[in-house]
This record gives sequence, structure tokens and C-alpha cells, in this order.
Amino acid sequence: MLVPFRDLAFACGGNVRTDPRDRRLRRKLRARDVLLTVPHGAPGNDVVAPDVACPAHEQLRERGIDSLLLLARVCRYSECDMNRPQARRWPYRQAVRVAMKEKPKLLLDVHSFPDSYPVYKGRDMVLVHTPGVTDKKAMEEFAARMRSAAKELDRKAWIEVQDQHQDVVHDIIAEAKEIGLPSKSIMLVECNESKSPALCSALIRKAIVGMARDQKWIEPAK
Ligand SMILES: [Zn+2]
Repeated sequence: MLVPFRDLAFACGGNVRTDPRDRRLRRKLRARDVLLTVPHGAPGNDVVAPDVACPAHEQLRERGIDSLLLLARVCRYSECDMNRPQARRWPYRQAVRVAMKEKPKLLLDVHSFPDSYPVYKGRDMVLVHTPGVTDKKAMEEFAARMRSAAKELDRKAWIEVQDQHQDVVHDIIAEAKEIGLPSKSIMLVECNESKSPALCSALIRKAIVGMARDQKWIEPAK
């Protein structure tokens, strides 16, 4: 029922017969290194987020990084917003919770925004810092890794860290904090829907690979 993107990525919807307590599923929900979540992956929601997260996930796995992608196909407008507290009983969020309890080294919650959105306008990517949940210094470091990756690829990318400005709960990262993931390993990224999802994906992947090498999750490059 799940498993649309190779063997370790899942699309969990409200109409999916998935029980996250299932032992076989629990085994699949283990990710020792990276957990990528796309709570607004339904058509017409965060329209480029799946195009950013899916290739990043697959390429991380190709590089020996244990990545798990959980992508929701639940419509935030007509069904339920998977990034709000009221979604915690849905199968998607139960699966995310099981995966977070495995304490991945990095949780990256991936979103996208239309370029008309005033506070993010023109940026390729914005890392959204939520005081009390995320660590601004760690986000600045991640942004710096993505900027130097863009330079390496000879591409321009406007990447910023911004404090959360909306009065909403980004509930996936909030729950990660409650579960006990360290703030420095919790991130939320917004990608511009008018820019290249392939570039955003590559920058995320390169930043994570760099982090994995520096933190010795994988062998350093020869
Ligand atoms: Zn979103």
C-alpha cells in the first residue's frame, strides 16, 4: 500500500490501511541517520516539496546515508493539515512519531512556498527557525553548507535563516522536540516554487553529505 518511492519511502494517507504499530512497518520506519518529512505532499499543497525531497532521499541512500522519507498525500485544505497538532492521530503522523523515536541524527521537514509569499519572496530557500524548538546556529551552519554547495555547482542561490513569523505550530518539529531530539538536529526548510526543485534538492543533499562526513556517520571523501 505504501512504498511508492523505492523501498524505504512511504506515502501515508488518511485512507491508507496502515497501522504504525505493525512490527514489519516499524522495522521499515527505522532511520538511523536522516528522516525527511513532507507533510504537505498532496497535489496542490506544497507543490515542489516532493520534487525536492524524493531525489534528495534517494541520493542520500546511494551515498550510504540511512535516510527515510515520509511523504503525506493528505490534502491540508480538504482533509487535515498534517503539520498541526490535530493531525497527531492520523496514520501519517503516527508513522512519523515511530520514526522520530528511533532518534535520527537529522530531521528535515520539507515545505514549499509560492514566490508571491511576501516574507520569503525571491529567496530560493528559507530555513525557518522556531525558538525553543530549533537551534539557530545549527540552521546557519546548514544554510552555509548549502550556499557553498551552490558555489561549487556554480549556481546562484539566495538562502536565508528566518525566525518563524506565522502564529502557527509547526507540529512535526514541535513533536520531535517533545520526543527528545536535540534542537540542533531539527530543521524546517521552505523551497521556492518558482525556482529549481532539482537545485534545492541537490543543495540539501550536499549539505547533509557534508554534515555526515564531518560528524563521521560515513567515511570522509578520499
Ligand atoms: Zn508546507
